[in-house]
Amino acid sequence: MRIASIEPFILHIPVTGGSIADSTHRISHWGVVGAKIVTEDGLEGYGFTGTHADLPSDRLITACIRDCYAPLLIGEDAFEISRLWLKIARHPPLQWVGRAGITQLALAAVDVALWDLKAKKAGVPLWHLLGGATKPRLEAYNTDIGWLSIPKDQLVDGCRMAVERDGFHRIKVKVGHADIGIDIGRLEAVRQAVGSHVSLAIDGNGKWDLPTCKRFCARAEPLDIFWFEEPLWYDDVGSHAALARSTSIPVALGEQLYSLDAFRAFIAADAIHYVQPDVTRLGGITEYIQVAELALASRLPVAPHAGEMSQVHVHLAYWHQATPVLEYIPWIKDAFVEPANVVDGCFLKPQQPGAGTTPTAEAITRFAKPLA
Ligand SMILES: [Mg+2]
Repeated sequence: MRIASIEPFILHIPVTGGSIADSTHRISHWGVVGAKIVTEDGLEGYGFTGTHADLPSDRLITACIRDCYAPLLIGEDAFEISRLWLKIARHPPLQWVGRAGITQLALAAVDVALWDLKAKKAGVPLWHLLGGATKPRLEAYNTDIGWLSIPKDQLVDGCRMAVERDGFHRIKVKVGHADIGIDIGRLEAVRQAVGSHVSLAIDGNGKWDLPTCKRFCARAEPLDIFWFEEPLWYDDVGSHAALARSTSIPVALGEQLYSLDAFRAFIAADAIHYVQPDVTRLGGITEYIQVAELALASRLPVAPHAGEMSQVHVHLAYWHQATPVLEYIPWIKDAFVEPANVVDGCFLKPQQPGAGTTPTAEAITRFAKPLA
């Protein structure tokens, strides 16, 4: 199954309600930036990373795919994913300028496309190719009702509806105001509205420093917080370890980490309780599997971050035994041939061959942006 061509693409798809914000980011669209890999027998594999839909930086990713990776891959056997991953990730000139950032996001897109091809060629969903599902149901948690930009009354209504109308047992609410009392007030109102049986996680997106996090956690502990995600600056192992020692609230992180080694450092320092790898920021599915296995060996749960809005992670989560729960944000799912849908609080198990990454023809027509 030789690779005949690699064609990058950029899609910009609107988020819920026109725009959303957390403590650090404000966006109106999600960027689906990736590649279609076509084999000599005409099979098409798709892979993508997730971005803030910023066209100039999206084009750096597609240029890396087109100019740096494609020439190394064309003519190669698409089935030999491990060898090809090493060939492009460890290509000395790219390793020199990369291992994180643009080159890693581009690597992720290419790697996912290769796995999509492999599963399609086998005629099975990715979770089946990897070894089968280890759970009959996969619980979803809803992030899209909890943005920091949502006013308190609307936040409470949205959380209540997610639980009572849509059947979610798990929700996540953003925190990160300059005045932590505002966040505590929002969380108290949400907890009161949804009841004690609902799992309530929170996410700070790396905004606060250690003293602020400690003060906040002391006040938030009575609210039974399932995890505190990205409480501190993404790469700061020592401060996360210090926070983890000081509070009963579990620490979750990983969406901003680019490598297996970065996860290893947090795990070795006891700085992380919920491991949150993302195929769109690690070097694709190949490196994601390594992180998930590291977490399993460390007896830590894996809760993937949905940089691809769970189109791929739904396969990985159904497959991997250490993954009890997966993030749900419905912005881009309907742009794909098989959307990552949730019914009664659980993800439907994908049934179609591939990795869930094939966009519909309509989505490409509607959302595609020029590469130059
Ligand atoms: Mg997060």
